[in-house]
Amino acid sequence: MTEDLSNLYQELIIDHNRHPRNFGALDGANRQLEGFNPLCGDKLTLYLKISDHQIADAHFSGEGCAISIASASIMTDMVKSTSVAEAQKIFVRFHDLIHSTEPPDFLAHGKLAALAGVRSFPSRVKCATLGWHTLNSLLHNEITPVSTE
Ligand code: ZN
Repeated sequence: MTEDLSNLYQELIIDHNRHPRNFGALDGANRQLEGFNPLCGDKLTLYLKISDHQIADAHFSGEGCAISIASASIMTDMVKSTSVAEAQKIFVRFHDLIHSTEPPDFLAHGKLAALAGVRSFPSRVKCATLGWHTLNSLLHNEITPVSTE
């Protein structure tokens, strides 16, 4: 990764942490689930409004480190207004990327590439995956709170 691109990714994370998108409880949400990362203390609640297999809206609330907040912010932005099937594909793309050793490709991965930076910090990987695993559980209609441990 070039230095410039790495800085760009960092700025994206900082921006999403300072100004989280889709933050706060969602009026009219019909699915809601908590996720917890005991390793770091990150605790999020994810809210989805799903109708007709479409994610009409996605919000999250909670508190956590910069990575967990930025990752959940980017995630809600990406899955909002997509179909449930498409959101599942985005989750798989994120999951594969975060566990891959291949360098991220900005064109192919877009904002997900910014999150791939945590691969260099194994203890932070669960911070980045928390919101996404909570999303995956919600898409599968699970009701047990998610724990990364
Ligand atoms: Zn964290």
